[in-house]
Amino acid sequence: MLARFFDADESRCGLCARRCRILPGETGFCRVRQNVGGTLYTKTYGRLTACGTDPIEKKPLNHFLPGSTTLSISSFSCNFTCLHCQNHELSQCPDADTAEAMPMNIISSAKETGVQSISFTYNEPTVFYEFMYDTAREVKRAGLKTAMVTNGYLSEEAQKEIAPYMDAVRVDLKAFSDAFYRDVCGGAALQPVLDTIVRTKELGCHLELVTLLIPGLNNSEEELSSMLEWEMETLGPAVPHHFTAFYPMYKMRDVPPAAYSHLDAAFRLAKRAGLYYPYTGNLHHPEGTTTYCPDCGAVLIRRRGYLADASGMENGRCSRCGRRIEGVFE
Ligand code: SF4
Repeated sequence: MLARFFDADESRCGLCARRCRILPGETGFCRVRQNVGGTLYTKTYGRLTACGTDPIEKKPLNHFLPGSTTLSISSFSCNFTCLHCQNHELSQCPDADTAEAMPMNIISSAKETGVQSISFTYNEPTVFYEFMYDTAREVKRAGLKTAMVTNGYLSEEAQKEIAPYMDAVRVDLKAFSDAFYRDVCGGAALQPVLDTIVRTKELGCHLELVTLLIPGLNNSEEELSSMLEWEMETLGPAVPHHFTAFYPMYKMRDVPPAAYSHLDAAFRLAKRAGLYYPYTGNLHHPEGTTTYCPDCGAVLIRRRGYLADASGMENGRCSRCGRRIEGVFE
């Protein structure tokens, strides 16, 4: 399948912030976009490694149709090479065993399973952008919602094109330093991710952030305070932000897991910074899995595992004081 966002004069792919120069016979950093005789092709179109239902809370998305199920779609490869990737068998694979599908097959599966949304997830969806774009358009036509789980490295032009067809975007804000993005994520940088986060909000998509806390690498009080200060100044207090606990994984098996105290410290810091909706994940921390009304403090959504009980809300508002809660609840 022909790949988009290719400047043939410069042999440059413009799909993500890496903007690889790909000469004939070569592939880009993600290894799935290939220049064949001056034309760029993608290897991932319609090639699925997963198509199954999940609770939306698993993404995690806490303010997007809580308690609903979503159809998770993935392909293979990534434009990052994170040392701690939990899906490295998919993300670091340049070619995988896949099932062939077209966008209309996804719609049929969605209707059969009765989900309310389709999520592009598990591996970085930027590297199967063309299929995600075609599918998201069909999903919207079918009256369902769409969500993208991303590292936030897609280019401005790619993001702007898909935004009208993407209801929710969950971005990994992996750290707040260039050094982390360079050393842990494979020579990446922080600023393109921040730009994507800001644009997501400007483009009117529902936004949630996730930071996986890795002890000693991205969880110092100084770094998290800088992150939260930027977030409050740039996005305001109402973007849900999930702080999740690291477990030793892939090429980072020598780093200890995050402890309850790391998670709780980040959660308290976010509260003190003024965030309305800080959350925690991967460790039992009941306060960090509950949604509270920022005005009256009532419990709106209580979660246990991936189960969500939103009986404290009605039509997207706090049942006690009537405050509208930021997110997509209808
Ligand atoms: S998607 Fe990104 S990593 Fe892949 S070829 Fe294009 S610019 Fe390079």
